[in-house]
Amino acid sequence: AACSSSRDGGGSGAGTNASGGSGGATISKSSLIGISMPTKSLERWNRDGANLVQKLKSMGYTKTSLQYADNKTEQQSSQIQNMINQGAKILVIAAVDGTALTPVLQTAANKGVKVIAYDRLINGSKNVDYYATFDNYKVGQLQGNFIKSKIGSTKVNLEAFAGSPDDNNAKFFFSGAWDVLNPLIKSGQITVPSKKAPATNDGWKSIGIQGWTSDAAQSEMQNRLNSFYGGGKKVNVVLSPNDSLALGIAQALAAAGYKPGASYPVLTGQDADLANVKNIIAGKQSMTVWKDTRALGNEVAKMVDQIATGAKVDVNDEKTYNNGIKVVPTYLLAPVVVTKDDIKAKLVDSGFYQASELGL
Ligand code: BGC
Repeated sequence: AACSSSRDGGGSGAGTNASGGSGGATISKSSLIGISMPTKSLERWNRDGANLVQKLKSMGYTKTSLQYADNKTEQQSSQIQNMINQGAKILVIAAVDGTALTPVLQTAANKGVKVIAYDRLINGSKNVDYYATFDNYKVGQLQGNFIKSKIGSTKVNLEAFAGSPDDNNAKFFFSGAWDVLNPLIKSGQITVPSKKAPATNDGWKSIGIQGWTSDAAQSEMQNRLNSFYGGGKKVNVVLSPNDSLALGIAQALAAAGYKPGASYPVLTGQDADLANVKNIIAGKQSMTVWKDTRALGNEVAKMVDQIATGAKVDVNDEKTYNNGIKVVPTYLLAPVVVTKDDIKAKLVDSGFYQASELGL
């Protein structure tokens, strides 16, 4: 396929075009690469940013600007604007709000700056050249299947959470899990005492936790336990889309008297954050879906290099990620389930964590 090169002109003759990555803006190893991350408050993004900078350096791209947006849309836009003003030629962006960057991306396009959406798709703009992420639907599917295999054919009470309504990934996580779990709700095997169980995948925002904060997840879980679990009723399963939510949920469970052991609820997560891996070891979380941020960084660094040298950019999915304006050529990586039994084999032996950090 001749496919995935650039953002098809779109007027204004700004000169971003075909002839490979270096049309319009000339890109070299000394060009500035802008990296815009959503927040420092979540462990993974710190690791993502640091890895990417390091990887790019090792490939000879020594000028990078790494900025964190404190989860604020306007802050992210102005940081990106500054990168453009400083002459960035390629932007790598993990969007706070997947729909809020259209104006600043137009400015980028007018200057021939290439844009890679990192981990989260950027919606509503034609000026998104590539996307690299872990298979987000698969993340949810792994969580759903984990729950399914844990409960077997027993009847259970479940509570479900979803990610931040402004994060384009959140609906994929939820859909992957709900496609497995919703049929079991319909069949009567799973009961949701709070009734906070969207009838279809599209209803996920009603149980979304804005900003992915642990605190909000904790108080939501506390409310549900107080309101719907009187008289000795127990929750057996909690679908949490990621680790920051799972951390808050585990706190709420502890406060309500749930103790690690055979009757502790099945609790899912994602990211393999340090605190959560420790919780898994302590029996306070059942699994996490690990996305090796080093692999994503390597892939994106490779994309940067391919764009810069005018090579064909490697993608492996050109049909799934429609941002409302175009299908963005995507490189998808595979997420991996980690449980107590394979923390060492997966997270320690790969060097993601030191045994000593985990107290192993
Ligand atoms: C990422 C997750 C992360 C979440 C909260 C999502 O877009 O894919 O890995 O847990 O954002 O930051």
